Amino acid sequence: MTHTKDLKLSDDLIPKYFYDSVTDITPEDLRKMGAKAVAIDVDNTVSYDGAFYLFHGVRAWVKRLKSEGIDVMILTNTYKLRAKLFSHLLGDIPYIAGAGKPKKEAFIKAAGKLGINVSEMAMAGDQLFTDIRGANNAGAIAIRIKYRKPEIFLYAHYKHLRAKEKDFLNEKGYGDIA
Ligand SMILES: [Mg+2]
Repeated sequence: MTHTKDLKLSDDLIPKYFYDSVTDITPEDLRKMGAKAVAIDVDNTVSYDGAFYLFHGVRAWVKRLKSEGIDVMILTNTYKLRAKLFSHLLGDIPYIAGAGKPKKEAFIKAAGKLGINVSEMAMAGDQLFTDIRGANNAGAIAIRIKYRKPEIFLYAHYKHLRAKEKDFLNEKGYGDIA
C-alpha cells in the first residue's frame, strides 16, 4: 500500500505490456520481452489489497517460471512482515519490502539482488504511479496487471488514483485492454 503523491501525467506511466493476471505471463512471453527475471508487486497483483493470501494459481505460476530458469522476486511497498509471508508462500523467493516505488533505486536494487541488469528485469504490477512509472524510469520492462477490486485502505485516495489511471490509459488509446 502506498500513498502516492506524485500524480503527474506523463509517458513514463505507459506500460510496455498489459495482462489481466500475472498467471497469464508465460516463460515464453518473458523470454520474448528479453526478461531473465520478474519482480512482482503484492497488493492487487498477487493478492487483494491488505489480504494475507495469494490469488489462485500464483504459487504454481512462480514454480513454473522457476523451473524454466526465470527468477521471481517480490518488490513491494508493503511492510516487511507481510512481504515475508508472501515470500514464504511462494517458496521463500527473495523480496524487498518498503521499497518506495516509484523510486528508481528500488528497481535497480531488485535487479542487483537477482544478479541481472535492470533492463533484463520485468516488473509486474497494477499501479501506473508506482510500478509502471518506476519500472520505466529505471529501465526495467513494465508490465501492467489489471487490479481486481478497489482498495479498502485510503479508499478515497485510491478511488481518485484509479480514475486518473483509467482516464490516462483511455486518452493514450489503451482503454480497450486496460
Ligand atoms: Mg499494487
